[in-house]
Parts: sequence; C-alpha cells; structure tokens
Amino acid sequence: MTQENTQQDNGEKNVRDVIIVGSGPAGYTAAIYLSRAGYKPLVIAGALTPGGQLINTTEVENYPGFPDGVMGPDLMDSMQKQAEKFGAEIVFDDVVSVDFGDGSDAGAMKSVTCDQGDVYQAPAIVVTTGSNVRKLDVPGEKEYSGKGVSYCATCDGFFFRNKPIVVIGGGDSAFTDAEFLTRFGTSVTLIHRRDEFRAAKIMVDRAKANDKMSFMVNSVVDKINGEDGSAKSVIVRNVKTGETTEIPAAGVFVAVGNTPTTEFLNGALKLDQKGYIEVDGASTRTSLPGVFAAGDVVDSVYRQAVSAAGMGCRAALDAQEYLDSLQ
Ligand SMILES: Cc1cc2nc3c(=O)[nH]c(=O)nc-3n(C[C@H](O)[C@H](O)[C@H](O)COP(=O)(O)OP(=O)(O)OC[C@H]3O[C@@H](n4cnc5c(N)ncnc54)[C@H](O)[C@@H]3O)c2cc1C
Repeated sequence: MTQENTQQDNGEKNVRDVIIVGSGPAGYTAAIYLSRAGYKPLVIAGALTPGGQLINTTEVENYPGFPDGVMGPDLMDSMQKQAEKFGAEIVFDDVVSVDFGDGSDAGAMKSVTCDQGDVYQAPAIVVTTGSNVRKLDVPGEKEYSGKGVSYCATCDGFFFRNKPIVVIGGGDSAFTDAEFLTRFGTSVTLIHRRDEFRAAKIMVDRAKANDKMSFMVNSVVDKINGEDGSAKSVIVRNVKTGETTEIPAAGVFVAVGNTPTTEFLNGALKLDQKGYIEVDGASTRTSLPGVFAAGDVVDSVYRQAVSAAGMGCRAALDAQEYLDSLQ
C-alpha cells in the first residue's frame, strides 16, 4: 500500500518530501523504508565514499542473511539498488551547510547546500553521515588494511584465532576490544603512547589480570610489516628511550578513536559531549522537529552495520510519522 507523497508541486525542482544525508547502511535503509511508504526520498550520498565505511572493507561475516559472508562493497551496492528500486533518488555530492531553522515553525522547510552548489529543501531530513575511524598514519597501515589491520574488533576478531594480536590505544574502546580479542588470539599486546590509561580502572585491572594480555606503554607503532600480502609484525618505538622492537602481529587493531561526521551541521543540531548527534531517548528525533539522525553519527557504542541499518529503519518510521502529521 502506498501513500500520497507530499512533494510540493511549486515549480521548484529541488523541493523533496524528505532528504537523507549519507549512504551507509543507515541511510540506504531509511531510503528503502521511506520510498516503500510512498515518499520520494532524495539520498545525498557523499562524493568521496558513497556506501559508507563498508566500502573500505573486504568480507563482512556478521551481517544477517549472508551465511557465506558478503564483500562490503557488494553489500552496499545491493542496498543502493534496493533503495533505487523503490524510487529513491541518489546524488553523489557532499552537503556542506544546512539551514534547519530554529524549530519554532512545525513543518517548516529545511534546506541543505551541496558542494556543487545545489540547494535542496524538504520538510523532513534524516542525517546518517556516520563516523570516521582515526588512523595511525604509519607505513603499512593502508597496505594491510583489511588484511590484518582492522578498526573493528567485533567485526574481525574471529579471523585471528590462534594468532598474535596487538591493539593500539589506551581508552575504554581499546580495553574492551583487547579483552574481547583474548577469546581468539594466542596473545594480545596493548600498545599505548602514554604511561597512564584513559580507560576505567576496573577495565584496566581486569585486563592486567588476564594471562593472555601484555602491555607496552610509552610506546607507538612506527610501521606495520607484512608477508604474503597480510600483516605479520609491528615495529614499536618506546617514546622515552627511542628503542625499537619488532613484535609479531597477525591482527593489528587500531582503537584510537572515532570522529562522528557533523562539521557540516555547523551547530544546527545538539550534540552530546563526545560530539555525536543527541536524540530523544530511543527515538531518532534530534533537537529540531523534522530532523532525524541514525547510525554511527548518533551511536558511539555499537557501531555495527546491522545496528546502523536498524536505526535507519527507526529514523524512516519517525520521519514518516512526522510527514504524515503534516498532511
Ligand atoms: C574497515 C571497517 C570494517 C568494518 N567491518 C564491519 C563488519 O564486518 N560488520 C559490521 O557490522 N560493521 C563493520 N564496520 C562498521 C560499519 O561499517 C559501520 O558501523 C556502519 O557502516 C555505519 O553505518 P552508517 O550508515 O551509520 O554510516 P557510514 O557507513 O559511516 O556512512 C556514512 C555516509 O555518510 C556520507 N557522508 C558523510 N558526510 C557527508 C556529507 N557531508 N554529505 C553527504 N554525505 C556524507 C558518506 O559518504 C557515507 O555514505 C566496519 C567499519 C570499518 C571502518
């Protein structure tokens, strides 16, 4: 069953029912739901990485429905096709600025301006711009990314059973990842640039009590070495003494932080202390009526493709309810 769409026939070609900013699992899922509900969503997919973070990975083994795994780019290509099949329109550009108003006028048009100069307007906006993992920027990191170097322990830990693993970082995420990875690796070495950890004391104490874990503090990774196309070891430098050591590492997990992609909002929406978009409880409603947010740009905890897709579904249903209320 479809609903009458709300697109305004006012002669302005850039007015849409709803605009989705971002084309990762959250964005495409929102697009699938909204187009199947009879709306004509415009997806502004991003110019550099349409498809989002999974475009930069190889096999995804934990997305439901693919018992043999699926390549990240193939999964995102299928999501794009599924959204287009139901009528979503996609443009490959970046939103550089927004005007969402002050929220005082229910149903007011919001506008987004793209890098190529196009301005689009809609009464409802769904922001799904994800996040960027912080990188080490050392030789070998790019070369062995997806071939030993990983930014997601939950996603990739399984691939390193009975192999030596290193984790780089000193915060809660690094410790959570390291402890999780002890289920798989023969050893897990946590490498941290300072001598004190930012992680909660209880996590540090638990890690110290784990026989599989060891620690290299005041230390940075200078290089990732490989063999036969996969990571094999890391060169670690003690920042106090300058001494370097090569330690075996089939899995190199980088846990030095994530940055939610929100600069283009320029303060239009309320962010939490870590810079993620704040939403109202379990909903996807942001600080402004008619503006919704989903996926990694909201979620500093779970950061998975399936959780982003699930939240994209919720954002679509929230946006749909909002659009229906305007009719
Ligand atoms: C290397 C790697 C491997 C991973 N492997 C797995 C895995 O195996 N399983 C798993 O569940 N998860 C995995 N993840 C995590 C997963 O990719 C993310 O949780 C998921 O992609 C988040 O989806 P999202 O839709 O919120 O955002 P993203 O996927 O980050 O997509 C954000 C989108 O926003 C767009 N965008 C950003 N800024 C703008 C702008 N200004 N204007 C327009 N568009 C913009 C980008 O182009 C992109 O399309 C992995 C992550 C990485 C980095």
